[in-house]
Amino acid sequence: MRQDQEDPYQRRSAQVYAAADRAGSGSVASPRPVLYDAVLLDRDGTLIEDVPYNGDPEKVRPVPGARAALDRLRAAGLRLAVVTNQSGLARGYFTGEQMRAVHARVEELLGRFDAWLVCPHDDADGCDCRKPAPGLVHAAAREMGTTTSRCVLVGDIGRDVAAALAAGAAGVLVPTPVTRPEEIAAAGWVASDLPSAVHEILRRQQAVQPATPPTEPVRTALVVRSDSAGDVLVTGPAIRAVAAGAQRVVLLCGPRGRAAANLLPGVDEIIEHPLPWIDPTPGPVDPQAIRDLTARLGAIGADQAVVFTSFHQSALPLALLLRMAGIDRIAAISDDYPGSLLDVRHRVPVGVPEPERALSLAAAAGHRLPDGDEPVLRLRRDAVPPRPADLGDPGYVVLHPGSAASSRACPPELATRIAGALTDAGHRVLVTGGPDERAVTARVAAAGGTDLGGRTDLAGLAAIVADASAVVVGNTGPAHLAAATGVPVVSLFAPTVPFGQWGPYRVPAVRLGDAAGPCRDTRAASCPVPGHPCLSGIDPEQVVDALRTLTVSGGGGR
Ligand SMILES: [Zn+2]
Repeated sequence: MRQDQEDPYQRRSAQVYAAADRAGSGSVASPRPVLYDAVLLDRDGTLIEDVPYNGDPEKVRPVPGARAALDRLRAAGLRLAVVTNQSGLARGYFTGEQMRAVHARVEELLGRFDAWLVCPHDDADGCDCRKPAPGLVHAAAREMGTTTSRCVLVGDIGRDVAAALAAGAAGVLVPTPVTRPEEIAAAGWVASDLPSAVHEILRRQQAVQPATPPTEPVRTALVVRSDSAGDVLVTGPAIRAVAAGAQRVVLLCGPRGRAAANLLPGVDEIIEHPLPWIDPTPGPVDPQAIRDLTARLGAIGADQAVVFTSFHQSALPLALLLRMAGIDRIAAISDDYPGSLLDVRHRVPVGVPEPERALSLAAAAGHRLPDGDEPVLRLRRDAVPPRPADLGDPGYVVLHPGSAASSRACPPELATRIAGALTDAGHRVLVTGGPDERAVTARVAAAGGTDLGGRTDLAGLAAIVADASAVVVGNTGPAHLAAATGVPVVSLFAPTVPFGQWGPYRVPAVRLGDAAGPCRDTRAASCPVPGHPCLSGIDPEQVVDALRTLTVSGGGGR
């Protein structure tokens, strides 16, 4: 272990907040820092052709390539479970004995599964296990001795993906002709068929493991993540991976990300400097400032630099400065030809969650999370202040209507109705926002809740979020604070960027809003469509229902 240093940002051994802290005693997390322990599969339409209410083993037909795909997962050491809604039991269309005969036939054709989880209920029963409720996912994880965040579920309709997300698992949609277009639009991860889904699961699993460990020890690593708080938070797991393989980590961040950088475990020292090729509202390039930055980067004495970017940002201008600063091992993601600017030119397919995208770059640079560390967002506990005592007991709902990008904020009129609906449903609501969002938070809180607008910085907000039962928020920094503290998220997600990349990571979540809205994939900072229709169509009762869904634990798992 390294020695403690004086620098206030050196807190490697500090306690951290993480989703895993909240896991119940029934969860047995594997110490291996891989993404997945288990793959959960829907039955009808995913593993076998959908024959409605089938009680006849003779009618079982596997989908093409199913056996070979499942055997690849088994060979990779992944456990397999089937999670299936069988309301035909409740409706009397077939008996339990007939269903067991069907399942025996499935195993005859497709091999053994480690667990079978069946919901025998009908929609009218209001059970916790019928997908999209997350009960079967919780139960499957428990039965296989892992946690939901280390499971990925493959299914053919929106209910499957929703159940996975609500349990904090990953969800892959493999559409069939019955899958609705809006379900495909809402899914963060879509594969064309079961073998492709399996291929991508294994590829992502591999991508966070270094092919080769670092050839030389790293004394000082420079990691770079410019841009905003959310960007910095989702890069946290990758920075922890670099920290595990380097004696000292220096983080270069921008002014918008500084407050988040202060919260990251694994960082020894922070350099704050805007990068005009990254900043969304840059000033003119100041040659002297660039010369000063280059000199400062040279003075770090880094023997490796890992430059993290979003898919639309270029790492190359900074790579040039790093070369001029004398750093001779530089790794970055770059689709653009880097010439001799990069030693590791890494490439990542679109759609990969940002934390995994960054972890895969760290892996390409020779680093992985240490044993016992999970690929989840985390915060330094010592960087988070105590929660103000006047807020009462934990268990409130945080409603955060704002965002630095207005296209991703909850429309104030909708936030007001949500505050009212939550209060009417018996929730204690805290309305949070930055100093420049006070007018909105006051208006929203007037409909139900306590106005905390302007009362917290990012660290103070983290303290409040950490004791919430859930956070209702758009695609913005506080959603990632919730993920980092293991707090479920009702995500009012404007589709300006892909949900699969920017959705709350490895924490129970419900996605609301029109995923096929006209702003989809525009990356617009302010909504290009009058009325902000992707979010303004949300019914506040959907938020109330989502909170109910997120409290499901499948019988004592949490
Ligand atoms: Zn059920």
